[in-house]
Amino acid sequence: MKATSISLAGQTAVVATMHGKEQVIAPAVAAGLGLQTILPTGFDSDRFGTFTRDIPRAGSQLEAARQKALAAMDLTGCSIGLASEGAFGPDPAVPWVACDRELIVLIDRPSGLELVGEAVSTATNYGQTTVTTLAEALQFAASVQFPSHALVVRPSANSMDSDTLHKGIQDEASLRRIVSQLLAAQGSLWLETDMRAHLNPSRMAVIAQAACNLVQKFQQACPACGWPGFDVTRRLPGLPCASCGLPTALTHRWVYRCLQCCHEQEVLFPTGLQMADPGQCSFCNP
Ligand SMILES: [Zn+2]
Ligand SMILES: [Zn+2]
Repeated sequence: MKATSISLAGQTAVVATMHGKEQVIAPAVAAGLGLQTILPTGFDSDRFGTFTRDIPRAGSQLEAARQKALAAMDLTGCSIGLASEGAFGPDPAVPWVACDRELIVLIDRPSGLELVGEAVSTATNYGQTTVTTLAEALQFAASVQFPSHALVVRPSANSMDSDTLHKGIQDEASLRRIVSQLLAAQGSLWLETDMRAHLNPSRMAVIAQAACNLVQKFQQACPACGWPGFDVTRRLPGLPCASCGLPTALTHRWVYRCLQCCHEQEVLFPTGLQMADPGQCSFCNP
């Protein structure tokens, strides 16, 4: 039955990065998939968008990753491509906490396989602020793990002109000089964390997690056809109340689905709970 199972072992993939992401992606796919990796030469991943917003991202986070992978494949002639894309913002559940969501896409042109690994983490230094004194700037810098994590200085929050951007600041002497000059000229400035992977070890660690998730997904083969990436696509509520037996909003089952043959498999009680506490029941505890 396993007609469509795919092996990438011994093959070569291009990692679409110019920011050192291969440091964490290459070991993960080598160990997990037996996949060798190369880097594209002359590849400009910044043209697909930058975190400093001087170049806006094309399309969704996944679309940007996909376009990077395909461009690097075209550039190198590699039939397998890997690319990652990050997004930062408030945690959906805890809005005052910053969150890093990393996606990594694997594209295998011969088979048509596209697989996405993901990691979401609040272990990020993502932040930004307006300052009016050097002391405030240094205080912010200390709060976002500078200098192990780089900073960006711009004249104001909305200044997009790349000529007035100072990216990749990694030492205190440079930070003091740039901030002092700009404060003398205009009284205030905008400071933000530089989220490029090679200048942000926290982000690099989350990309590593996404790469591990990709490998794990690849190894989850469809029981019907063997296609990689057999994964949960729906989490359905309805766990019965322990007292009255009526369905509650708690998770009752997960539905796994094959991206290739659409085979589905349900797993009951995926959280380990077989009954819901009556406190969670809208009938017993309205
Ligand atoms: Zn299948
Ligand atoms: Zn009940």
